Amino acid sequence: MDRKNLRQHYYKPKHQVKLNALQKKRMFSFRFSKVTICILLLAIGVCSFFLYKMLFFPRIQLKGDTVVTVPYKKEYKEPGFLSSYHDQNLTEYVKVEGKVNSKKLGEYPIVYTVSYHGRTTTKTRIVKVIDDQSPKIEFTTDKNNLYICPNAKYSFDDYKAIDNYDGDITSSVKVKDYGKIMKYQVEDTFGNRTVVERKVVYKDIEKPKLVLDSPSTVVLMVGDKFSDSSYQVEDNCSSKVKVKITGEVDTSKAGEYQRVYKATDDSGNITKVVQKVVVMEPVKKGVIYLTFDDGPRSGTTDIILNVLKEKGVKATFFVTNGGPDDLIRRAYLEGHSIGLHTASHDYSVVYASLESYFNDLKLVSDRVEKITGQKSVLIRFPGGSSNTISRRYSVGIMSSLTKEVTNRGYRYYDWNIDSRDAEGGKYSADDIANFVINSLSHDRVNMVLMHDVKVATKDAVGKIIDYGLNHGYTFEAITPFTDMVTQRVNN
Ligand code: ZN
Repeated sequence: MDRKNLRQHYYKPKHQVKLNALQKKRMFSFRFSKVTICILLLAIGVCSFFLYKMLFFPRIQLKGDTVVTVPYKKEYKEPGFLSSYHDQNLTEYVKVEGKVNSKKLGEYPIVYTVSYHGRTTTKTRIVKVIDDQSPKIEFTTDKNNLYICPNAKYSFDDYKAIDNYDGDITSSVKVKDYGKIMKYQVEDTFGNRTVVERKVVYKDIEKPKLVLDSPSTVVLMVGDKFSDSSYQVEDNCSSKVKVKITGEVDTSKAGEYQRVYKATDDSGNITKVVQKVVVMEPVKKGVIYLTFDDGPRSGTTDIILNVLKEKGVKATFFVTNGGPDDLIRRAYLEGHSIGLHTASHDYSVVYASLESYFNDLKLVSDRVEKITGQKSVLIRFPGGSSNTISRRYSVGIMSSLTKEVTNRGYRYYDWNIDSRDAEGGKYSADDIANFVINSLSHDRVNMVLMHDVKVATKDAVGKIIDYGLNHGYTFEAITPFTDMVTQRVNN
């Protein structure tokens, strides 16, 4: 049977319903050979297309994958590419187009194009910005153990869920109570899931809170009546918190005492708050307190110390961070008191704020403690507590400072006699001595302001002491129990 006959035969199935095996085989091989030819032609076509491309078009080779994923909000970094035409490097001529906005989820095509003699090659990379980060569950209480007050119920208010994409999804958190375990589960918009488990413990582990209504240091005079501070107390679990107050305070004797307020909740958690009670000596009428500010200084402080030693008189030195340590050590060892005048003595620094004052005070306090082995609680403010210069740096600073220093356990001492030795060297040693002598009184404490950095002062000290001793005065150094001498605060 030739092909023509076969085709007729094939298209006229009505006349012959059944084909024998040979006929079937022949028909199959005919159809098969047709398909083979088609495939062959196609393959040749494709091959020659690629060959053509290879021979006549520039090449682009992408480094890394052609589909890249970038986590949400993370910057996309171009993995790189190469381009060539035969031996020629065309990489620098490749144009890259397309931008990735990693703050928006989606697919971003990056198109690489290079042209060579009018023939252009293009490649595309797909950048997928995805959210693959699970939300975070945070706890305001212990993250591993859930402590519930005995006989209380869980309040479901100590957790928060934050997702990098959805934001606050606390309301989507599902909490399941398995008795001994509490399970927290949350899922973000893209199905990223977080599960956290906590052990449930029925126990009060929090201490009660106790706050005194009075300052942490109370200053009294000998003979004053002392009464305990009122207080506020609260506890997370117990409605009744026991408070016991202990510690001796003897207001008939000058000294430093401690009152301890001990709060105990039902579970035995204890909070202790200590109040310092300072009982000051009675006012010592007719006593002269010689006080020297701004030192120490070689050439003046040492001479003043010689005079004091010779006359057997004790005084007080309010020091800064200047001058040699040795002079502070000597003054301390010879029985004088060391007070704090601030480290820098710079008004713009010490009166800028409470924090700035106490930072500066700490420097000089540390210095004194290092030299003498003792913390000083005696303070003199630069310019005194009545100064108005501080207003330039902070309005009201002296009002807050005078309160705060006593709250923190310091005492501050102004003066009621000014030797005027700081007035620019205007006065001689005799003038200075006379200013002091003429102001002395047997009816009060005599707190004398002087400066051991001044040359004339060292020569005036002897004369003042001689006069005082000859006229029934006594000289003392300020102690932590010396009643404060304070001026009116003007800022
Ligand atoms: Zn000063």
